[in-house]
Formats: sequence, C-alpha cells, structure tokens
Amino acid sequence: MAYISNTESSGEKQYISFEDVVNYFLGSSPNPENFNSKQYCEELLGRANLSEIPVKLGDIVPHQGYNQVEVDEGILKVIAIFFRLNDPRDAYYRIKTVLHECYHSKLHELEIPGDSDFLQNKKLWTVWEETATETAAFYMMDKIGFNTKNLIPSYWEFLIKTLPLLKNNEEFKDCKYLSDFGKVFLERRFIHKSVEVNWNEFSSVIDIDGFNLSEYALQYKEEAYAKRNELLEIIFEMNKTIIPDGKEEEFKKRFAHSFDSGWEQLKDFAGPAFNMSLAILMNKMGVLKC
Ligand SMILES: [Zn+2]
Repeated sequence: MAYISNTESSGEKQYISFEDVVNYFLGSSPNPENFNSKQYCEELLGRANLSEIPVKLGDIVPHQGYNQVEVDEGILKVIAIFFRLNDPRDAYYRIKTVLHECYHSKLHELEIPGDSDFLQNKKLWTVWEETATETAAFYMMDKIGFNTKNLIPSYWEFLIKTLPLLKNNEEFKDCKYLSDFGKVFLERRFIHKSVEVNWNEFSSVIDIDGFNLSEYALQYKEEAYAKRNELLEIIFEMNKTIIPDGKEEEFKKRFAHSFDSGWEQLKDFAGPAFNMSLAILMNKMGVLKC
C-alpha cells in the first residue's frame, strides 16, 4: 500500500509506503526507564503535523489519558490531550496510553459527514473508535519493539466482542493478534483519512449485543485453565498500583476467585478477571472466529 505525496522542494509526486509513514511517525523507541508521557506525545504530534494540539497533565482519574474534542461547524477539533499527572502504572502501559491518544488525535480537523450519527449514537461510536484505537496502540507498541503479549488491552470488554465479529469482515479476516487488527485500523486513519470518522460501516451492520460471548469463550477454556497462574499474574501486575499496601495477598485471592468462577460460568463473576483473561488469551493465541 502506498500513497502519493508532493515533495515540497521539487513538487514531484512520490510514493511513500505505509511502513515509511508509521516509522517516521513513531521515531525511535522511548526509554521505559525515564519515560515522560507529555514529552513523548509532543514528539509524536510534531511528526504528525499536529503540534498545535496542546498536551497537558492533570488529575484526571479514573482516566489515564483522553482527547478533549469539540465539533465546530461539522469539523471535529481536538482542543487538548490530557494525561494523568504522576501516573503510577508500569511504563509500558503509559507508553501504550500515549500511542492510544495519538491515534485518536488524528481525528483532528476531519469533517464529520452530514449523515453521521456520531453525536446521536456516541455509545456505539465509542465501541468502534476504541476498538480501532487500542488495537492500533498494540500495533505501534510492537513496531517500537515492546512485547505486548503480557499486556491487558484497555477496553478489553469491547475487544472480546468486536474482534471476533470483525473476523467475518473481508478486510480483517486474516488478522490474528490484536496488532494485526491495529495495523489495518492505523492504515485507515493515517493513509485513508476520511473513511471511518463515523464508523457507520461497522456500527450499522455488526450486532454486538447479539454476540454470544459465553459460547465464543468456550474455545479458550482449556487454555485458560492451563495458563491460569500466568494470566492471574498479568492481571495482578496491571492492577497493583490501585491495591492498598498490605492487601496484595487478599487481592490475589479475589482475582483468583473471579477467574475461577468466571471461567466456570463463562461470564464475569465477582470481578472482571474472566473478560480480562479472555482478552489476554485472544492476543496470545490469536483471535478465533465466532
Ligand atoms: Zn480512547
């Protein structure tokens, strides 16, 4: 896949591959040892010609980051990108959050089609926008050399439904891991800018509520039990920053209870460990068809 760009010096048309665009955008890998979300986000925005968007730090809990947007005369505008001040999470999660927010920010200055239900059906729009954004963040994490197999995606509760359903779509049928889906979504937003602003092409034809999650998850049950300790460790690692000192063992027991009863009943029970572990498994083993 390539697109045509006019070089400023000569005015000649040049073919630039998607890989070139992404490599240029990502630049060199950030150092997890002294990672600074605001600084890294500003670097990425600079390379995406979006330097005009201010990056701010604030007390935004329960969010880790978000794009503040408004629609002005049919044009979507990003007013600012916020990150959580003193975010206590592991650096890999903080890096992923920056990549996630930068994907959203490429909506800046895009036209909202007149027939868009963007504002009317914000909930469904969010499901598809976050599916695209989080998988794209996984793809970018892979590109800059970080292992994503032991990370829990944000919006796992959407991904466990949307990704199997997308496998029935011609464009996504060969996607296996989260990053494969993300590559398609990144290419759409970075190269073919206009096609997915309202996500109607998915939201109007894919029935998320009709998806039978329990039946689907059955395909992963054996592997879930086989990898039980590993999965519980990943869940503990992601959540450890919200666990009060001295309560670690108690929370480990809670996660284990939620995991065991969730996989027994094939739905979330006493906590989100079933959905979380399913999302991790889908990324480790590949997203199976529904
Ligand atoms: Zn998001």
